[in-house]
Amino acid sequence: NGNTRVATFEASKLIYNYTASPRSVPDEDNACSGPDTICTDHMVTCTWNASKGWDFPELKEYGPLAIMPTASVLHYATECFEGLKVFRGFDGKLRLFRPDCNTQRMLVSTKRIALPAFDPKELEKLILTLVSVDGPKWLPRERQGSFLYIRPAIIGTQPQLGVQTSKQAMLFITASFNPRMDAPVGGMRLHTSPEDMVRAWVGGFGYAKVGANYGPSLLATQEARDRGFSQILWLYGREGYCTEAGASNFFIIWRTKASENGKLQLLTAPLDERLILDGVTRRSVIALVRERLTEELEIVERTYTIDEVIEAHNDGRLVEAFVSGTAVCTYNTSDHSTP
Ligand code: PMP
Repeated sequence: NGNTRVATFEASKLIYNYTASPRSVPDEDNACSGPDTICTDHMVTCTWNASKGWDFPELKEYGPLAIMPTASVLHYATECFEGLKVFRGFDGKLRLFRPDCNTQRMLVSTKRIALPAFDPKELEKLILTLVSVDGPKWLPRERQGSFLYIRPAIIGTQPQLGVQTSKQAMLFITASFNPRMDAPVGGMRLHTSPEDMVRAWVGGFGYAKVGANYGPSLLATQEARDRGFSQILWLYGREGYCTEAGASNFFIIWRTKASENGKLQLLTAPLDERLILDGVTRRSVIALVRERLTEELEIVERTYTIDEVIEAHNDGRLVEAFVSGTAVCTYNTSDHSTP
């Protein structure tokens, strides 16, 4: 029925327009050395407008998007995105890591930025389709342990200036090479955020993966990098609550004070304040500890301050600190048992 507004895109309606000029796959060493991200042969796109809803999704040659200079996203940051990886396992299989978590989170972000909703399962199917079309060629079997980075995004495309929700939107999904970003030798150095810069605040949108969270954080990050640090540890409020580090979640392992029985705890900022992103790796770290280390390590999700961390360090109670996120990966390539 042509009058019904289509509430989600559907992967089964995907239109296949294969590229007529497939490109060659770069050597692994060169894949990330240039200034441009190298994407695979294809991308998936889908357009939406407020009266008809979602159109049929299309798989087509990777290339520029056509949007007007007056498009909503370019002025009002009506954008949200996701980031996940498809891995070529050491057993030769291609695997996505918990894509359902990313597609559900994308829906949360979409709502926050007033872009159109969709069925996360359909987004997952579109991602799977792109990976099954381009994965075998761009992640050849011999490149075991390597990965492609999948970037779904939705942008507001309505070409009308004016502060309002966008009545037109576009979904696109790309697959690309991303630097491996192994953790630096000797550990990561984090710089606390400058006092006049806040990444997220109560009532804000720190929990959503919207582009508007990232642009304003770049200045502090660059200044920290120029001074030899890897990332900013974002503090919040006069109390200096530890929230996130760069585009990663932040964890501490410490012993509580002797007066509190010296328990070993895994400590991280809570989700309920909505200041931090509900990281898929964060969830996975917590789930693994809960499953395998319940006796040894107590999981604590609560607000805690940088002063508490400094005090623990001064008392010799700080065991370690680490970040979790999709971008950085460190694993022992000689241990193929746990790809
Ligand atoms: N926090 C922020 C602000 C991020 O951008 C990311 C990366 N998506 C993370 C945390 C880590 O999330 P994930 O484990 O899902 O990659």
